[in-house]
Amino acid sequence: MIQKIIKCTLLAVLLCSLIACEGQGQDQQIEYFKLQDVTLLDSPFKRAQELNKKYLLEMDADRLLAPFLREAGLPPKAESYTNWENTGLDGHIGGHYLSGLSLMYASTGDEAIKERLDYMLEELERCQAAHGNGYIGGVPDGKALWEDIAAGDIRGGGFDLNGKWVPLYNIHKTYAGLRDAYLVAGIDQAKEMLVKMADWAIWLVEDLSEEQMQLMLRSEHGGLNETFADVAAITGDEKYLELAKKFSHHHVLNPLLDGRDELTGMHANTQIPKVLGFKRIADVEPNASWDGAAQFFWQTVVENRSVSLGGNSVSEHFNPVDDFSRMITSIEGTETCNTYNMLRLSKMLYQTSYDKKYMDFYERALYNHILSTQHPQTGGFVYFTSMRPGHYRVYSQPHTSMWCCVGSGMESHSKYGEMIYAHTKNELYVNLFIPSQLQWKEQGTEIVQENNFPYEPSTRIMVNPTKAKKFTLLLREPNWVSEEGVTVRINGEVYPLEKRDGYIAIERKWERGDLLEMEMPMLLRAEQLPDESNYYSFVYGPVVLAAKTNADDVTGLFADDGRWAHVAHGQQVPLEEMPTIVGEPGELTSFLSPVDGKPLTFRITHLQPEKYAEGLELIPFFELHGSRYIIYWPQATE
Ligand SMILES: [Zn+2]
Repeated sequence: MIQKIIKCTLLAVLLCSLIACEGQGQDQQIEYFKLQDVTLLDSPFKRAQELNKKYLLEMDADRLLAPFLREAGLPPKAESYTNWENTGLDGHIGGHYLSGLSLMYASTGDEAIKERLDYMLEELERCQAAHGNGYIGGVPDGKALWEDIAAGDIRGGGFDLNGKWVPLYNIHKTYAGLRDAYLVAGIDQAKEMLVKMADWAIWLVEDLSEEQMQLMLRSEHGGLNETFADVAAITGDEKYLELAKKFSHHHVLNPLLDGRDELTGMHANTQIPKVLGFKRIADVEPNASWDGAAQFFWQTVVENRSVSLGGNSVSEHFNPVDDFSRMITSIEGTETCNTYNMLRLSKMLYQTSYDKKYMDFYERALYNHILSTQHPQTGGFVYFTSMRPGHYRVYSQPHTSMWCCVGSGMESHSKYGEMIYAHTKNELYVNLFIPSQLQWKEQGTEIVQENNFPYEPSTRIMVNPTKAKKFTLLLREPNWVSEEGVTVRINGEVYPLEKRDGYIAIERKWERGDLLEMEMPMLLRAEQLPDESNYYSFVYGPVVLAAKTNADDVTGLFADDGRWAHVAHGQQVPLEEMPTIVGEPGELTSFLSPVDGKPLTFRITHLQPEKYAEGLELIPFFELHGSRYIIYWPQATE
């Protein structure tokens, strides 16, 4: 018993060192700011956040809650939503909704969002009480399913578990939602509910052998291992860490531990959340080899398996690293959830490595994939972003579309403030150039970043300590800057650059009103597909460029509640009718010329067939909506 207590105390100390333990004097531990400390200022991100708030409030909480009430034996107050919400995945959006509301409340302090979140939690708490065993969930006939599982009757795999549609994946969303309501929105009631629900999971698997566990984990299960490691960190109780490890899928973990990429053919968004769990366990335990597995996974997915906008997968599966042909032909290209999860992984890896490469990727995928997947008028979310030249994307609607990417989208557009800044005790990292106001409470300092980035390649940062303060400001030197390089001015004077690990370090005693300006001239590049086939995408600075072709037959642009309405089923334009760039790979960027008066806009020429002789206009992909488009261009020589 004493030994156990000592062990638990040790664990608590360790956990404390890994989670933000303010006031502990840990000089070098990198910390993120709470969303509450960062206020977005006017920019495309702020507009996306506001639009997402409307979308969240437009959704009907009672319809989202209906499956949970039904399964708890309580009368639902409204009919369930349709689409994926009444065909087996009942309740998954309700879980995401908790996360989305929590993030939005933390980012904006909006009272209507808080009321909605409180209401969701109250209703779910009633469900938990009615079940009486800690469980909360909308999985149809869940009670019988879980009893079978607990008894070792485990069948299926992939998207099936005992004849149900990914029930473990489904309940993971509720776990994550409760975690976010506690850790992000600060609601204690959610912590109690989360811990009770984690105790239910201990009951669920306590009699299962390792073989039975691994059999069960063949079925998609989101990041259950991550949330259980979170519960370990929250409670300081080692039993949840054991649970997290028990929920870790060896079939995916083992090759990663050996540095082997065996991902081809695997369902991509089933695997990424498992790796989030490996990484979280690695941080909480701590465990260097599991950390290495997560780093290897990130590296191989980002470097070998991702297209220019930061996304991956074809029809939700990892394509062969040496064959991206289906990426070009398929109408089911990169899935948004995958990138949502790769950004979460980048965040976790950056925190323990300080490696700037994670931020370079984060920025690329944030501007070009995540931001681009929200319709700028309706706030609808995109599922597949096809790389097929001349194809298009479709958008969700609040009362018809209940896809996974709606769930993760409600979260993504609610947390744009999460990675702009980071800090150690007396260093402030500026990682993203998103206009924002930061309260760095520990240093009594306010930071105001304003710009018209990326439309103008510069940013201005005002440093406002309450009284003069000495600390180091570290500006990320982006990986897309042209040969001219970065220029920094402080109060109008050019500042001699001191570089440190990809950052520009400025150590000084800051006075209220100090103004820092950074110029970041952008480089134009042609990026080839990772398989080195003759397809190129143009990237200016961090911005992926694309051409609008036309809006002919964009069937289902705003999705109804059909089972496959998330796929853009309109006509596929034959690829031979699409333009080819004619020239040598090394000269492609010379075929682009800036369009006067339109920032981030270029005209591309040297196109065939003849009807494209006048060229096409390239704009930022994140601005391109409701139209067919080209991101990747086939290249050929005369
Ligand atoms: Zn998805």
